[in-house]
Amino acid sequence: MNASPLRRRRTSSGASNSTASSFGASPPKNTGYNANAEPSTPKRAAGRGSGLAPGTPGTPGTPSLITTTGPASEGLRKKTLVLDLDETLIHSSPQGSYRAHHRIEVVIDKVACLYYVYKRPHVDYFLRKVSEWYKIVIFTASMAEYADPVIDLLDVQGKYISGRYFRESCVPHDSSYAKDLAAVDPDLSQIVLVDNSPLSYFINPTNGIPIQPWINSDPKDEALLDLLPLLDALRFTDDVRSILSLRLV
Ligand SMILES: [Mg+2]
Repeated sequence: MNASPLRRRRTSSGASNSTASSFGASPPKNTGYNANAEPSTPKRAAGRGSGLAPGTPGTPGTPSLITTTGPASEGLRKKTLVLDLDETLIHSSPQGSYRAHHRIEVVIDKVACLYYVYKRPHVDYFLRKVSEWYKIVIFTASMAEYADPVIDLLDVQGKYISGRYFRESCVPHDSSYAKDLAAVDPDLSQIVLVDNSPLSYFINPTNGIPIQPWINSDPKDEALLDLLPLLDALRFTDDVRSILSLRLV
């Protein structure tokens, strides 16, 4: 969403370049995931782009960073995947065009404002896929009056998203907002946050996965697809931080 009283204030460190990291700087261009394919049987090990060593867990001499809690995905408790909203899953603006996917009217203090909402490429497939693997929660620094109807657009049938956290759940930090994941799940070994602003996971840096911000500038953006191999692998770890901390520099 563009400049708006509903949005958090941004700082230079929260701008687009700030997310250039070991995850987001050079995403794999071919993740092996087909957005048009039907969901298949989940894989146990990491795919391309995850940064994990290939190999079969348990095979002598084969290094693997993944430890599993069972022989198969059955019986695994779903971890929680927390997703940011603006510039991660969608972009919205008070100035729009007929190309906008949706329009929503937001009323705050009896003042109505129309927002044009653009879905990030592949977001529908992404949500469908990761909801098979994780409990999905949206955590946004935007106000509920705006974010609630946007989330409804992303999950029309209420099948994918099981929790919503808004600005009042954020922790003010400098001129922005941080998201304390303990408010969602106190067991930080079982929770991951995907957010275009690293400031958002300032409190829980080893639970954060950066993603390049999307401002409706690239219709061929594949950043959400690029995350799938890593998210596929993380769901089998005992502690997501044991993997994500390796990517911090
Ligand atoms: Mg954002």
